Amino acid sequence: MHPANIPILGALKAGTIQRHLIKLPGVALANDEPRPVISVTGANPGPLLFVNAGVHGGEYPAVEAVIRLSKAVDPKNVSGTVILMPVLNLPAFRSRTPFVCPIDNVNPNRVFPGDPSGSYSEQMTHALINEFVVHADAYADLHGGDIPEALVPFVICRSEAGLADAKARDVAARSKAIAMGFGLPYVLTVSKPVQPAKGLSSYAAAAEQGIPAILAEAGGVGQMQEEAVGLLVQGVINVMQHLGMIAGPKSKIPGSKSQGNSKSPTKKTARRAVATGKAPASVSTVLTKFEWVYTKSAGMWYPKTKAGDVVNEGEQIGTVDDLFGDTVEKIISPVNGVILFLTINPSVIENGLLMGIGVK
Ligand SMILES: [Zn+2]
Repeated sequence: MHPANIPILGALKAGTIQRHLIKLPGVALANDEPRPVISVTGANPGPLLFVNAGVHGGEYPAVEAVIRLSKAVDPKNVSGTVILMPVLNLPAFRSRTPFVCPIDNVNPNRVFPGDPSGSYSEQMTHALINEFVVHADAYADLHGGDIPEALVPFVICRSEAGLADAKARDVAARSKAIAMGFGLPYVLTVSKPVQPAKGLSSYAAAAEQGIPAILAEAGGVGQMQEEAVGLLVQGVINVMQHLGMIAGPKSKIPGSKSQGNSKSPTKKTARRAVATGKAPASVSTVLTKFEWVYTKSAGMWYPKTKAGDVVNEGEQIGTVDDLFGDTVEKIISPVNGVILFLTINPSVIENGLLMGIGVK
């Protein structure tokens, strides 16, 4: 069907960009400010791609990438529809709260697909899945390191391994193809949640509903890194090409407002890739396990490594000291792998998360 039917957005018109301010359903969300959503409805029929950012409130390059995509994609050149939501977790975004939603102190990315009678985050994720994701042919959830985290860009999707059902394996295979097409340095395929949690992450919940889905991460430490914005914008454009939604010669990538310089290398790269319609030049390294490292002790964290470093099992990768300056814990890498994200704030709590290591 074209134009696509997303009931909460009302009628979409082929060949146009429309701005929406939507109220998500859910009693807990009744007093929310409306959330901006942009629909880019192509002139021609094709797949429906749903993209959001801001599941976590301090991951700004992802939010900026979604905003910029809304101005970059020309509906005349699109087959299908792209739905863009810059910020899901508006309470966290407004209050600069990392990881969780301040209303219920829940990490929304641990409670997908949500619960219509659950807490605020559960109602919010339930609404996202049911009002948007289930209508899509593919779903991309854009993230980055949150305010205390540095990271190296990577994409996560579900692993085919251990899935008994042929349809589920097919969705996982299509998710991985989208993840590889996104074009970031690493693709991590995971078969189980990395942390015990009540629910799933966005991409896993979408896959459970039969929707091929990825979660892409670039940027971190609470800042607007132009390079990360460029990687995420280009990644979504690569996915659109992978899905056959753009052939691409005329889409323009506008520069950032703060650094709107036509000589920006990121912008040039993005425009060149759109212009040639070529797949990303580099092939992502595939990782199949995500090992998270915690400190037992509270204190001051002194990493000896940085995001992107390769580490070896048994290698000392940092220390935690008490507030007298005495080392209370040596942090040892449990695996051979690459540090995908790293806590960079020195203050750590008991059982606090220090880093995530991707393993081949
Ligand atoms: Zn995140």
